[in-house]
Amino acid sequence: MGRKSNAKKQRKESNYSSISSHKRQGKKLIPPIQQISNLKKLSWSNDTLPEYIWLSLIVSLNERDQSLKLLERISEYFGGIEDEKRPIDLKLSNLAKIEESTLERFIEFVCLHLGLKEGLQPLLLFENLPGKSTWERHLSIQEPNEEWEKLFLSVAKCLDHQSQESTDCRWICLHYMMVCDQLHVPSELFESLANYPDKEESELKMIRGMIRSMEIAMRTTAQFFTGEESVASSTWSTLFWEQGLKDTPCMIMDLGKEINQHTFVEYANYEKVISALKKHFHNTVATTEINAKHDGVFGLSLYCLELLGELLDSNNNTSILGRLGLRTIAECFITLAYLTTKDDESIWNMYRLYGSGQAKLAFLKLDEIQNKPKYINVNTLEALAGEDQWGEYVEINLGHWENTNLRKMSEEANVKDVYNTFYDWTSGFAHGQWAAVRNSSFVTCDNPMHRLHRIPKPQKSEFNDVTEDAKNLCNKILDLVSNVYPKFTYRIE
Ligand SMILES: [Zn+2]
Repeated sequence: MGRKSNAKKQRKESNYSSISSHKRQGKKLIPPIQQISNLKKLSWSNDTLPEYIWLSLIVSLNERDQSLKLLERISEYFGGIEDEKRPIDLKLSNLAKIEESTLERFIEFVCLHLGLKEGLQPLLLFENLPGKSTWERHLSIQEPNEEWEKLFLSVAKCLDHQSQESTDCRWICLHYMMVCDQLHVPSELFESLANYPDKEESELKMIRGMIRSMEIAMRTTAQFFTGEESVASSTWSTLFWEQGLKDTPCMIMDLGKEINQHTFVEYANYEKVISALKKHFHNTVATTEINAKHDGVFGLSLYCLELLGELLDSNNNTSILGRLGLRTIAECFITLAYLTTKDDESIWNMYRLYGSGQAKLAFLKLDEIQNKPKYINVNTLEALAGEDQWGEYVEINLGHWENTNLRKMSEEANVKDVYNTFYDWTSGFAHGQWAAVRNSSFVTCDNPMHRLHRIPKPQKSEFNDVTEDAKNLCNKILDLVSNVYPKFTYRIE
């Protein structure tokens, strides 16, 4: 089986949509799910879990068989009382809305008869627990840290809306609606839901998926009909997470350092190649006149080898700067591949003239600035701008030098694979785009009560080593040198 069909197979089994399944709208690629109009986004962990945290404590702190039986008894308890006395669902906020005496009896049933007092104690940690005064009469806290531990465990198990524990909580919500005659389903569906606790593992996968989609449909519909924003932004949910942040510390258990496979380039080998390249320059130089092609080929290749040398130095290969270096080497390779594919004297000159114009533009801007920066000498810029011809003759091109872009150049030079492989992600680092910033500066906090938020990395990032990729690109550049000025056989090993 070829590499292409392997890739195809891999895609088929992956759970993300390919680029081609996205729909192009202007300059945006819209993923398939976003193509559904009026899509409402509900978050299980942010908005719903705090409402069901008591159910989550039950399913997380007990054996599964036992916890499902307990949940059924809770649901059936309400089935046995009059319609108007029941809560509309099992959310903590809605439980707190029922008549106080009914809530009192229910909490007593749960704590005493079902023996859930110890497991539900963590609820009292919350200043704003809905119905707190009633819960308080049946629960008490001795050791707050022990109660937080129970919450950490149960939130960790239920943060993922698809986990077994979350699905069990979502199942009892549907069960409750059936018991209270609010949900009518075909008989085979009824059977699956009613007998969910006794289902074999082989059947469970399908039933779990069905439970999740029905539960979310019920939530969305409830929100639609009540017109409330009860699900999306219940005050209790917000306060629940706020208190978690206030009362519990950030945790970093495992820094999860990526296993970094290093490529070693011997400095002696690197030196040998770069000095051979300089020698090859002298062997092939035919004139002291301006030769945009000869200067361009050797200039770009020497520039990339310089960069590679810097990447080999002082851990730059695993740094943010390493990514910037790799991006520049890729860009230089594409530029050189384009220039050598076209091999047109006017295009070689255009590349060179554009650079002089950019130096002139930078010089003119800096010349007007009082406080000169330290990274460049303005006189150097002026000299560079006017090296080939008197500066006054130099035009400034405000667009791309070839009136195109790097992607199109890579297509024309038949090196689109290099563009696709090296350009997008490294550009994120060069432009300080969010994903690169997040990847470099933050780690995920392991405190479940903090909802997997991001906190600053305690140590400097160590990314994957760029040496192997940078080295291979440099060798591709040396292939181009050898094609244009044969024969150059040295490569970085
Ligand atoms: Zn945290």
